[in-house]
Amino acid sequence: MKKTLCGILSATLFLAGCGSAAAEGAAPGHRLLYQGHGSLRIVTAEGKVIYIDPYAGKGYDLPADLILVSHGHQDHTAVDLIKNRNEDCRIITYKEALVNGEYKTYDLGYATVEAVQAGNNPNHDIRSCVGWLITLADGVSVYATGDTSTTDQMAELGSRDIHYAFIVCDGIYNMDMDEAAACAKLINARHSIPYHMAPGKPFDQARAELFDVPNRLIVPAGKEITLE
Ligand SMILES: [Zn+2]
Repeated sequence: MKKTLCGILSATLFLAGCGSAAAEGAAPGHRLLYQGHGSLRIVTAEGKVIYIDPYAGKGYDLPADLILVSHGHQDHTAVDLIKNRNEDCRIITYKEALVNGEYKTYDLGYATVEAVQAGNNPNHDIRSCVGWLITLADGVSVYATGDTSTTDQMAELGSRDIHYAFIVCDGIYNMDMDEAAACAKLINARHSIPYHMAPGKPFDQARAELFDVPNRLIVPAGKEITLE
């Protein structure tokens, strides 16, 4: 209850046009907005703003501290939607994060960002796609698979006690629901969330419900959740 109230207060502060500093002392917890399709926005408890694969939906107004781009397809690369960027805003794309087969890790203080394997299907070359494992300062972690089918690394990620895994499952350009559910088992996150489920639409409730895993969490497009 307390967290929810703080979250509302923090959101109000942001709406009032205040930057990261406004959240100081408010202890709002981390918030994640699912903007739709493959697009996510995280606002950390200390007010850092992370965008992943900007493209779908709304909520691009908060000044960015970090923008992540998993691969080069146009439904993941709309960084121009983010007009407000803090002075030291970093943009990290698959191009820097995966060089000659080496996956990079970035320690940003407020978060550690690890590029991980992604792609591995006819539409997505494993050499030019990454997923992101983001671990926030207090250990809360979010994995966004990016566009992919099963990768070798997923089993290894299964031992990392990941809190939230967003798992692609469209079955057109990437793995289908059954394979996505098998990946969810490998990744073994506390919450497995279907995303990028219906290209052309930000979200599809009926398809989301086909993602049949025990620890499923359905987050509709436009919904913001508290990460804990
Ligand atoms: Zn895509």
